[in-house]
Amino acid sequence: MTRAEKLLSGLIALPSVNPAFAPPNAATLRLRGLARYGEKQVADFLAAVAARAGLDVEFQPVLPKRSNLIVRLPPRNKIRGTALLAPHLDTVDADDCQFLPRRKNGRLYGRGACDTKGSAAAMLAALLELAESKSRPAETEIIFTGLIDEEHAQAGSRAFVRQASRLFPFFKAVRDRQDACPTVVAIVGEPTQLQVVTAHKGSLWLRLETRGHAAHGATPWRGENAAHKMARIVCALETDYAARLRRRKHPLLGTATVSVGTICGGTQPNIVPDRCVITVDRRTLPGETEAGVCREMAAFLRVKKLSAKISNTKLAPALPLATDPKRPLVRRLMRLAGQSRPAGVDFFCDAAVLSAGGIPSVVFGPGDIAQAHTTDEWISLASLERGQRLVLNFLRSLP
Ligand SMILES: [Zn+2]
Repeated sequence: MTRAEKLLSGLIALPSVNPAFAPPNAATLRLRGLARYGEKQVADFLAAVAARAGLDVEFQPVLPKRSNLIVRLPPRNKIRGTALLAPHLDTVDADDCQFLPRRKNGRLYGRGACDTKGSAAAMLAALLELAESKSRPAETEIIFTGLIDEEHAQAGSRAFVRQASRLFPFFKAVRDRQDACPTVVAIVGEPTQLQVVTAHKGSLWLRLETRGHAAHGATPWRGENAAHKMARIVCALETDYAARLRRRKHPLLGTATVSVGTICGGTQPNIVPDRCVITVDRRTLPGETEAGVCREMAAFLRVKKLSAKISNTKLAPALPLATDPKRPLVRRLMRLAGQSRPAGVDFFCDAAVLSAGGIPSVVFGPGDIAQAHTTDEWISLASLERGQRLVLNFLRSLP
């Protein structure tokens, strides 16, 4: 068994479900599965492995009992650049049996196998190998950062960015000089089939509300039906508005999208509903802003002679990612991965948060997003090994 596979098997066996997905009454009911929640054991396991290899280990407290893990390999000389390896430690929810790693036909099955315990295993295994080989970079610091809460609100990457100047003093230096930090890059671990991804969409969750007047169901003409108003809005968004978005294309990402996810209105059959609410998932392209999308949607509804109160339901922005593929370290990674063009993906991840915080980021990792969040989640062991090798080659190539 290779080092990456051994690490990954150990990681799959550990509880890692984001506590945001725990049933609201789990703590009081003391559900049997309660032990599944939280990233702490994953962080402790990786920290112990790194400490045994003689690496510097630090925890960054983020939320109660939830900390980012930070492992450092300093360069031989003065720091003139930093490569961050940044997989997340949390997973989506799972059954107990998904925490039993199973190997079959060249695949390793289990929750997090590809999203993203696989990236964490490949990246840390590469770093350990580099540290043992005594051929560490002359002037590039390598920081492995295991981030919490990616699957929910990205509290881990947001906290990392807030304290980046303390956690990673070289970043403060480039920030103070206001240079474009050509020697800094974050590789955010997600299953990209080992494609270097420089762009992904952003995600807005909008809430639209219509108001009407309640009346007796027997005399509906005395009221004003908020559900009927909303039905026309749903129809307009899913047809004409979606068609308008399909005309707007990004070379790596295709088109922006809209999808009505929930609808709720009325209280009982014999009352004309006075209120109806939908929530809408709007995936954005680089250049689109929350304010711009809300304005555009309101203007679209106005032209259709429809109206609704529009608000954003996300606590923190989920922005699109658009990193310049010509950045030197991005080109270097692409060259090693045998890739002539950058790639884009549909899903949102920590890379956008780090990028928005001034740390140029790409997404890269073994496994395929098609298996992420599925009950049968798996990773190809060949992809895991190749991922470890590519990360190691990249780290070895750093000045
Ligand atoms: Zn995920």
